[in-house]
Amino acid sequence: MSQAIAVLNAGSSSLKFSLFEQVGDELELTLRGQAEGLQTAPRFVAKSASGETLSTHAWDDGKRLGHADALDHIVATLRGRLAGTHLAGVGHRVVHGGLLYSQPVRVDAQVLDDLAQFIPLAPLHQPHNLTPIRLLQERQPALPQVACFDTAFHRAQPELAQMFALPRELHDAGVRRYGFHGLSYEYIASRLPQLDPKAAQGRTVVLHLGNGASMCALAGGRSVASTMGFTAVDGLPMGTRCGAIDPGVILYLMDQRGMDARAIEKLIYNQSGLLGVSGVSSDMRTLLASKEPRAALAVDLYVYRIGRELGSLAAALGGLDALVFTGGIGENSAEIRARVCRHAAWLGVALDEVANQAGGPRISTAASATTAWVLPTNEELMIARHTRRVLGS
Ligand code: ADP
Repeated sequence: MSQAIAVLNAGSSSLKFSLFEQVGDELELTLRGQAEGLQTAPRFVAKSASGETLSTHAWDDGKRLGHADALDHIVATLRGRLAGTHLAGVGHRVVHGGLLYSQPVRVDAQVLDDLAQFIPLAPLHQPHNLTPIRLLQERQPALPQVACFDTAFHRAQPELAQMFALPRELHDAGVRRYGFHGLSYEYIASRLPQLDPKAAQGRTVVLHLGNGASMCALAGGRSVASTMGFTAVDGLPMGTRCGAIDPGVILYLMDQRGMDARAIEKLIYNQSGLLGVSGVSSDMRTLLASKEPRAALAVDLYVYRIGRELGSLAAALGGLDALVFTGGIGENSAEIRARVCRHAAWLGVALDEVANQAGGPRISTAASATTAWVLPTNEELMIARHTRRVLGS
């Protein structure tokens, strides 16, 4: 009997799913979709690998519909699709593996307890990631589950790259730079040998530019530094997150504005970044199309900060052989790629304007000392591969 792996990625109001079926040695995407608007106006859609809509559903009594009902609907959809194919397991995207998990792991009661202890490290993501794992354990106890972490790929970074200059006791207690988007970087690292063998063995900076955004320095395909730190609010400005700021600003807001932790959390996670600076939108497409001077300013700051982080990561690598753009902005915005590459001319990047407009994959000229690439990420495939390996199926 042929095998399949399901992948779940749960957020606060959405549950995304993908189904991969084994074809020879490969895992092939056959179904994907999501339930979104949970607790408010829930909608479900399932699509084929080519994007054709296969089924939709909307719930009338929306207000009460949460993750459990959405999960039931998704499982029923998957089982309907699978017929004679065996569902070998479910892989989950989990943002934080803490100090304990530097590899994907099969979930049991102990693992779930461990992962719940990391909720304070990622309070906006971790609880939602764990919800479907717990629900499936209750509802389908025989179905194997594997947790795949956004932090795991970075856990092998040199200790210096993981340190804050805080008292050692805090480092030992887990207050350190973890880095995120690890599944995306791991996927890019797995593709690099086919694209650019020299860079795969050398020094590459990957820019994952989506609503959340970060950059990662790869040496020989391994993460050695990244812009995100203890939490996913560090580093680059993002759609609504501020990125790196002087920690003194937080103290000032507490002392002078009377803001507490929750108010500051809302400010730095939800009201800052592209949205906060522009006052227009968190969406890069909207900002690029806007005539508002503040929209242009937000984009200018975004590109400027990428340029500075690129210098820092190139320094950590001792030079640069390649740049790789991925994520919604990195994959789709020729304008942002062009501006970042022009800023990186001092690092040997020469942009091929025509190739960049065409979307790559290679967007640097033949003579460019440092190559530049566009490569769509595929975190779901990475999770499916890990799940298959962990389950030995
Ligand atoms: P998430 O981090 O939520 O997965 P995505 O990777 O889908 O987000 O990225 C979303 C971002 O990509 C948004 O800012 C969106 O405007 C941007 N984006 C998508 N397509 C384009 C485009 N053609 N030009 C510019 N930005 C784009």
